Amino acid sequence: MPEMPEVETVRRGLTPAMEGAVIARAEVNRPDLRWPLPQNLAGRLTGRRVLRLGRRSKYILVALDGDETLIIHLGMSGRMLISGDPLGQFHHDHPAAQKHDHVVLHMDNGARITFNDARRFGAMDLCPSLDTEAHWLIRSLGPEPLGNGFNETYLIARLKGRMTPIKAALLDQKIVAGLGNIYVCEVLHRAGISPRRQAGRIAARRVATLVPLVRDVLSEAIEAGGSSLRDYRQADGELGYFQHTFRVYDREGAPCPTPGCDSRIRRIVQSGRSTFYCPNCQR
Ligand SMILES: [Zn+2]
Repeated sequence: MPEMPEVETVRRGLTPAMEGAVIARAEVNRPDLRWPLPQNLAGRLTGRRVLRLGRRSKYILVALDGDETLIIHLGMSGRMLISGDPLGQFHHDHPAAQKHDHVVLHMDNGARITFNDARRFGAMDLCPSLDTEAHWLIRSLGPEPLGNGFNETYLIARLKGRMTPIKAALLDQKIVAGLGNIYVCEVLHRAGISPRRQAGRIAARRVATLVPLVRDVLSEAIEAGGSSLRDYRQADGELGYFQHTFRVYDREGAPCPTPGCDSRIRRIVQSGRSTFYCPNCQR
């Protein structure tokens, strides 16, 4: 399941192929993804110029002329493929149509953007550009972890009195948007905070340390994604999946990477999700 850094990598990869270009033709091959697609989506996209690609949490926001924005969510298995060679950056011939190619955008610069989603947990919707923050998928999201709204004062206030484990609190999209299971495990390891600790019982000064660590962990992952774009030669032109090394995630039984700690990474299940942590240096 793509997390926010993967989505940001997809956004950055799509930008040179889409921004400023016109959608010469849109193919919409089924009426729904996770939810019904907008009525006449193909007709409403055809002929529109892409002004800007933005992102809110794990939603890619494609601002179009005519003051409408296409909201895209990759869901569990959604993939974006670029083919064609609009700016001499990509070297992928247009592939034959594949099963699960649900939406295909033929750009007037020669690029083709294909949204393929085998499990169909992805989503697309159109909304007035000024109303994206009020869209039902977006309106209840907390602040962006890399934005100014996510800061020490805010996080201390939001965690105060909360009885849930800190792991669950940081996964709560109303508290901070776009932080997923992998990166929460990494943040808590760097902070030395046990994922089982009750959020409201962590001292404010320790909660404050989480803010720069959230930014660091996500920024490093986005940087790794950016590197993957620079040497972008994957055979099928797929965006957003890159090698990234984690300190604790998916490393059950491995030695803890904290200098001087001789413990091993343990896996537990919290709210149905795997948590990886060091029982020695995370308290
Ligand atoms: Zn340790």
